[in-house]
Amino acid sequence: MNSQYDTNNVFAKILRGEIPCNKVYEDAETIAFMDIMPQSDGHTLVVPKEAAVNLFDLSEAGAEAAIRTTQRVARAVRQAFNPDGLSIGQFNGAAAGQTVPHVHFHIVPRYSDQTLRGHARDMQNPDLLKAHAERVIAALREQAA
Ligand code: 5GP
Repeated sequence: MNSQYDTNNVFAKILRGEIPCNKVYEDAETIAFMDIMPQSDGHTLVVPKEAAVNLFDLSEAGAEAAIRTTQRVARAVRQAFNPDGLSIGQFNGAAAGQTVPHVHFHIVPRYSDQTLRGHARDMQNPDLLKAHAERVIAALREQAA
């Protein structure tokens, strides 16, 4: 597994603000935004800010922050989309399905009557993605209140 960090990977560019994303949450250690090619409605990514390719490269503090944000955002996704279930996943290495070489966690709502769409396959309509982000942001706001 190659752990050399590529500073030009797409999440590094998002973290530097060089390309846009539908951000739902940010704190000092993490950011969360909608997956641009969601496997289901509400598919959200949690990305530690630390420059780490995969879970093995991430510091313990980074891992703690990532799981804290993942739990917080997953609660909001669950409230916003009311899915039948919710998968949380994290891939290490191309052989495991990792396509972006910056560690991240997938929050994927699961609906009993729907099969998952392909991984990193079809771009979502930008307006729909924005509307989904707004639902998650509203749920986060409610949870913080
Ligand atoms: P991985 O395959 O590395 O576990 O997951 C990478 C995820 O990032 C995929 O689900 C893919 O759809 C998503 N993705 C790839 N490029 C972009 C992008 O430019 N913006 C956003 N928001 N998501 C992206």
